[in-house]
Amino acid sequence: MNSIDLRSDTLTKPSPEMLDAMMKAKVGDDVFGEDETVNMLQQKAAELFGMEAALFCPSGTMTNQIAIKIHTQAGDEVMCDKLSHIYLFEGGGIAANSGASVRLLDGNLGRFSSSQVLENINKDDAHFPRTKLVSIENTVNRGGGSIWDFEEIKKIKASCISTNLSLHLDGARLFNALVETKETTTDYGKIFDTISICLSKGLGAPVGSLLLGNQQHIYKAKRVRKIFGGGMRQAGYLAAAGIFALDNNISRLKIDHVRAKEIEKILLQKNFVSEVFQVQTNIVIFKVNETISTEIFLKKLSAQNIKAVSIGKNLIRFVLHLDVSEEMFEQLKTTISEINF
Ligand SMILES: *Cc1c(COP(=O)(O)O)cnc(C)c1O
Repeated sequence: MNSIDLRSDTLTKPSPEMLDAMMKAKVGDDVFGEDETVNMLQQKAAELFGMEAALFCPSGTMTNQIAIKIHTQAGDEVMCDKLSHIYLFEGGGIAANSGASVRLLDGNLGRFSSSQVLENINKDDAHFPRTKLVSIENTVNRGGGSIWDFEEIKKIKASCISTNLSLHLDGARLFNALVETKETTTDYGKIFDTISICLSKGLGAPVGSLLLGNQQHIYKAKRVRKIFGGGMRQAGYLAAAGIFALDNNISRLKIDHVRAKEIEKILLQKNFVSEVFQVQTNIVIFKVNETISTEIFLKKLSAQNIKAVSIGKNLIRFVLHLDVSEEMFEQLKTTISEINF
């Protein structure tokens, strides 16, 4: 019986082809700007989004935190949804790294509106933090992989321009949104001041994220990355995995989405499931009945060699990814169909 790990799409391991690309990478000291594979990845990503420059960083958390730091000063305020990763899952970094406060918006599965943005901008008054940055997450991790409506993003951009706010995208899973919608990377590149993307989620690289922006943003970001301890040396081995991921693993994200939908369908028929968050991409979040503890549910899964996580009261999360083979997926469907309480 296969072991199926659905705890996260970060659990994927490099494929033999990716490892081969890593082994062949030409490297140098990237702190000196001399790693040609890192330079190639940064240029490739910047071109892909039609943005001026990019910076390779060790993690998605670091790219977001660098972006927040370059857009704000201590005492400024960052506006984001209450479910956002930058607020919930980055160790309080907005306060710790940038000394900024947070204005939480109450959106729909992590997606807020331009009118909510306008309503939450502080007046220029010594009592209030200075509203400085709006951050959008697409897809929304804690929202069950929900996708933003691009028309709303455009409205938010217009609001940010008219009120002089910067706009950042936490695009850790942006490619999951892009394979499901008609927008392109360059559409996003035109809207956002900075964008962070992860290569180590569904795209299957072992390490790495990129921050995208204009020359000035990336110049500042390089300094902040150094301060955060994120300057890397022969990082080209990792960058090669990132190039391989961008070249080979984007369109296949669709497979994860189709599978997540199939799992949603099976779960909706189970009497121990009280709710399934609408599945739009590769994340399935569902609620088990009050009478069943998530611990017991996860134990039952684990007895069938399936790993998942609980992300709140009665909430279970499955994340589909490229290390789930066709055979594993069949086994997964059978197991869930047969579970009963
Ligand atoms: C995973 C994730 C990140 C970054 O995570 P790291 O583990 O630091 O790479 C950022 N934002 C979102 C929405 C994520 O899901």
